[in-house]
This record gives sequence, structure tokens and C-alpha cells, in this order.
Amino acid sequence: MPALTATRPATPHEGDKVRLAEAIEAARDEILELSHRIHADPEPAFEEHHAAAWIAEILRRHGYDVVHPAGRLATAISATRRGGAGEGPRIGILAEYDALPGLGHGCGHNTMAASGVGAAIALAAIADDLPGEIVFLGTPAEERGSGKQFMIEDGLFDGIDAALLYHPCDRSHVESHPLASEDVEVVYHGLQSHASSDPWLGKNALDALIVLFTSVGLWRQQLRPTARVHGIIRDGGTAANIIPDRAAAWFMVRSDDEGEYEVMRERFRDLCQAAALATDTTVEVTFSGRARTMRNNGVLAERFRANMGAYGIADQGDDLNAGSTDMANVSWVCPTIHPDLAIAPEGTPGHSIRFRDAAISPQGDETTLLAALLVAQTALDLFRDPTLVAAAWSEFRCEG
Ligand SMILES: [Zn+2]
Repeated sequence: MPALTATRPATPHEGDKVRLAEAIEAARDEILELSHRIHADPEPAFEEHHAAAWIAEILRRHGYDVVHPAGRLATAISATRRGGAGEGPRIGILAEYDALPGLGHGCGHNTMAASGVGAAIALAAIADDLPGEIVFLGTPAEERGSGKQFMIEDGLFDGIDAALLYHPCDRSHVESHPLASEDVEVVYHGLQSHASSDPWLGKNALDALIVLFTSVGLWRQQLRPTARVHGIIRDGGTAANIIPDRAAAWFMVRSDDEGEYEVMRERFRDLCQAAALATDTTVEVTFSGRARTMRNNGVLAERFRANMGAYGIADQGDDLNAGSTDMANVSWVCPTIHPDLAIAPEGTPGHSIRFRDAAISPQGDETTLLAALLVAQTALDLFRDPTLVAAAWSEFRCEG
């Protein structure tokens, strides 16, 4: 990883880009301390109270007007800092900070929180010379629940001209193609009875769930390779000698195509009902946390790619292994990018202990600082060149 302030090929606004790098170097300890503190105290979706409070405190220290909580989510943050050089665009710097239940920061969102804050610190250091407004948005609940969708509905993205974020990965690439997705809670209700002396008096809710898993397994043969259906059993009964009267599962249904997703959603509901019919049980099916497909903004992507390139980091090309993200929902509201930078050797699986360890490794730390700088430099390009913002919006509108 090159030193942030090292000599490198010039890109536009080079003098200010060096000032951003110096500001991040000066705040290195503060940024990395935040990353490690969040990593050591993993909080799942909607419960990121410590992380949100720490982030809000640092932003206040760097001159931001901080609203926390922002909107309906207790752990959302909206922080703004006006530039001192008159009117201009409002550029959104986003950060996530939720962890995975039972795994901790296996998606490395601690590095996202710290890099988003780092970008905000760097831009604040030159804010007196910038037009427009820096808007930091702390966005909870990416792993489950699509927190950004609530923030969109709460108006927190209104008037934002571009949304920038970095996500950790085992490869570095600017554009990505996350799948439309939803969480599905499936609960079967049956009737308890003694599993040996009176089994004929019971209705087995776990059997219903097993039929559902079997149906989903067979269904997969007819799904395109870009579709996903996967789940876990959360409640399968309490004892082998009791016919379970309740069984619950958490599924996710995903597709790279919004139209196909709608069809899959209804088919999944039918499979749930079919399993209830087969076992004489009843079922509740609850969809939530809809994430959409991503509209990568080419104008923003090109700026990020150029800033990466100045540090000798090549775009390794689009990733075919896709998850889902609520950042995709933002991409339907304003020009958006979701670049990934490597914090681990290629082939390290996401949502794993190895990836969790990488999120506080020396490579993870250096990538966090570099991500802060690249996001800040890309924001700077937009603050300094109104034609870029106009071009990003024109692309957004043409494809909308
Ligand atoms: Zn993630």
C-alpha cells in the first residue's frame, strides 16, 4: 500500500488532494482507533448504539453539525458542514457500522465507519475553501433491514447530489452488481402432542419447515444462476418427545433482475403455503428489508477509478459474486457508487472469521485510510467541478 502523501501522477485539483492526504495522515490514530473500537464491540443491525455515539462525537469535534438520531432510526446520523466558498453541490459521504450476529465484523463494516469518518475529517480540513456542503450520513442496518430505505423515506437523502461509500472486499473494483433481496420470516403453527403416545393428535410445525426446505432445494434447479434462496431454522421445537407446535425460519430471496425477483417472491409464498397444506399447519410469511438492484453511476465511478489509479491500484473488474445492499436503494435516488477495496488476499470469503480478522489487520488499516482518502478526493472532484455533478445527474436521469 503506497504512502498516502507519496508523489504520484497528478489528477485534477492535485494541491487540494495532497491537503486531504495530509489531513488523513494527521488523523490516522483517531481513524484507526475508531475502526478497532467498533470491531471490538460488534453491534447488530438497528442496535449500533455505541458505534453511532462514537461517530457522532468525532464529527462534532471536527466541526460538523450533527443530528443523531436522524429520522426514525435511533442509530442513524446526519451531519453537515457547509463549505466557506459559497453555493455548490451537497455531496454525501456514507458509512455503515452494523455487525453480523454471532460473527461480529465479518463484513468489515468497522472499516467503513472509520473510512467514512476519515473522509469527513479530511474534507472538513479544507471546508473553508470548498463550495456547497459536506453531508455525512451514518447508515445503520445494512446486513438486515435495509436501514438506508428508512432514511430515504425520512427525507435524509433529499437534495443530495451524489452518494459515495467504500466497502471492504478481497478484490478492488469500482462497480458492483448486488442482487434485489428481501428477508423472509416464516413461522408455522401446529399442535403439540406427545411424540410417542399421541402423535396422531398433533400437527407438526417442524415437518412443515422441512417440506419447505425440500421444496426450495428442488426449486433451485429451475432458477437462473443469478438467483438465490437460502435460509436457516431459528426454531425447530424444544424436545424430541414433543410434536412441535411452532417452527420458524429466516430466509432470503434474491435475484439480479427486479422483475424476476417479483415472480420469485410470489413463488416462495406459494411454497410456504404448500408446506402448510401438506402438514395441516398454518403459516405466517413476512417479507421485510427490501434491497434493490444497483445503478452504478459511470461518471462517479470514473472519478473514483482515476483517484485509485493515481495510487497504482487497478480496477480488477466487476465481481460476479454478488450479495445485496441497501446502497442499491440509494442508487435509485441520486448518483451513487459503491466501490470495493481489498482488505484481504483474493479468495478470502466474506462473512467469515478470516474476513473479520482482516478487518483489523495491517492491510485492513491501510485500506481504511486509503478508502477515506479516495472517497474524499472523489468528493473534492465533484465540489470543484460542477460539470461533473451535472454529468452524473444527466446519466442518472437518462437511465432512470
Ligand atoms: Zn457489508
